[in-house]
Formats: sequence, C-alpha cells, structure tokens
Amino acid sequence: MSAANLVEVFSSIQGEGPEVGTRTLFVRFGECDLRCRWCDSPGTWKRADRMRFETAPGSERWEEEPNLVTPARLLAIAKRLDLASHRWVSLTGGEPLLQPEAVASAAEILSGYGPGIFLETHGLHTEALAQVIDRIDFVSMDWKLASDVRRESDAKGAEAEPFHEAHQRFLETARAAPGVSVKLVITPASEDAEIDAAVQRVAEAHPGACLVLQPVTPHGPVQARPTAARMQALAMRAGSRIRDVRVIPQTHPLLGVA
Ligand code: SF4
Repeated sequence: MSAANLVEVFSSIQGEGPEVGTRTLFVRFGECDLRCRWCDSPGTWKRADRMRFETAPGSERWEEEPNLVTPARLLAIAKRLDLASHRWVSLTGGEPLLQPEAVASAAEILSGYGPGIFLETHGLHTEALAQVIDRIDFVSMDWKLASDVRRESDAKGAEAEPFHEAHQRFLETARAAPGVSVKLVITPASEDAEIDAAVQRVAEAHPGACLVLQPVTPHGPVQARPTAARMQALAMRAGSRIRDVRVIPQTHPLLGVA
C-alpha cells in the first residue's frame, strides 16, 4: 500500500459532469503536469508539503497535517466525513495518475463502504491508468484542446501539440471501467476543427461513452463564455456521432460549494 501526496479531503456535491449533484467525497491529489488557461486550482500544480481535511461533512472547517498520507490515515479521515453516506469517492487533482500506486491504494482501502470510486483525470497517462483501472468504477476524463492547454514542460511560446492521439489511447484503456465520460471544456478560443476531431476520435474509441460539452467558467485569463447558440450547434454536431451528448456547465460556483 502506498501513501499519497494530497492537497485536501472534503465532502461536497459533485459540481460538474454526468454525476453532477451527487454527494461526493473528494480526495484531491497534489501535482499536475498540464497548464489549462482556465484552471481554477493552481494550488494543486505542485506537490504539497501539508494537506488539509474537513473536520465534518460540508462544514468547511479544516485541520492540517504533513504529507504523505497513508491509506489507513485516509480511511480514518474519510470515515470521520461519513464515507458511507456518499454516492462517490472522487480521486481528483491536480492529476491523480501522476501517483498511480497511491491511487490504487486509496481506491482499494476506500472500496466496499458504499460509494463507487470515481477517477477524475486529464486523460493522458495511459500506462498509469492501466495499473489502476481494475479498481475504478467510473473514469471521468478530460479531452484537452491545444487552443487552451499546454504541458508544463512546453517551452514558453511554443505551439502546443494536439493531445488527440494520447487521449484516444487513454480512452481505449478506460473502456474497461463500468462507467466512462469524456469532458470537453469549450471556450470562445476553442476551434471547431479541434472539437470535431476530438468528437470523431471519441466515437471511434468508445461510442458508448457519455460526452460532456462544458462551457468554460470564466477564470484567470479566460474571461468570456461561449454563446448558447454555439453550444447548441456543437451539441447537435456531436450528437450525430455519439448518442449520449450533454451540455453541462459547472454548478458548484452557482451553489457556492467547494
Ligand atoms: S489538468 Fe486540471 S489541475 Fe491541471 S491545469 Fe488543467 S484544470 Fe488545472
């Protein structure tokens, strides 16, 4: 069993994607190797010296302790937050698959109490996914568009390579999970050609997956949303290739929850 570098553990309501509105216990892992222009959690980009956890479900009162967090300690924190009353445990980030052994250990120790294990990932580390997929009930992967996302390692100003091939390999591995969704965050800068290419590859790799088109929540340098007419048009085009297409904005900013 492997200890995890975590940022925080808390109980809330899933704010986005196909399971929006469900009670979810979030386990947020430290470190991310992408840089999305709209990212609202840059505090997760680096491994954390200390982690925080909520002391009662939904209280937003916190205690802190040093990393790393052993699986047994994670289970104790989760039980204090009434683990069994949740629909899902979300292993999220940052990018959890930068710590595949810790993800596998967390999934194993938190399974069997009721909630399903829900993995939220940027969808690029296929080998790491293959190590943990047997323990995951639902893979919620992003499909990043190069118009808005860079790798941390990219040279400043360099043109970003599309992520399509890496995402397609990842989705082919994710098919082994009982539930799979693919999320495309749409900004005014997202180009129709890259969206259409992504939709085509999702249709080839896993036509049964749920495709979520998420209009961006303005944040940082991204200060405008795509228009409703554009979202309608994108959903219509995607729907001609994939049966389960949903337009779902983020709801946690509306609810005012973490
Ligand atoms: S993958 Fe997630 S955590 Fe990483 S930069 Fe993008 S939005 Fe932020």
